[in-house]
Amino acid sequence: MTLIDVVARLKKLEAEATRAPWTLLGNIDFQIVSDNPEFYINFDDSDKADPELITELRNTAPALLEILGAFQEGDAATLAVIAERFAMSCPDGMGCPTCAAERDVINRLTNAACEMEAKQE
Ligand SMILES: [Zn+2]
Repeated sequence: MTLIDVVARLKKLEAEATRAPWTLLGNIDFQIVSDNPEFYINFDDSDKADPELITELRNTAPALLEILGAFQEGDAATLAVIAERFAMSCPDGMGCPTCAAERDVINRLTNAACEMEAKQE
């Protein structure tokens, strides 16, 4: 299983889960609520970090999954070809300071694509 597979699974789960936004209430005991009155999660005597993280992840999940879902199988190899063509397009090659920003973007996207396509345990 790759992170591409995980993102597809999370998108399905997100679509079936109680709709965002979720709201975190409380000061000592916390409760996560939504527009659905039958849905709530209680955190008695909890550290705020856990319910806060769950709420933030739920509310940003659609946007995060949309962005991560842009990665597809084979993107790492395609981006490697793009990086090679880009490097050949400049007479100063890989060390060109003028092209550093563009090269950095291609490298970051290539690394991200490699992570997305890597087999997870
Ligand atoms: Zn250049």
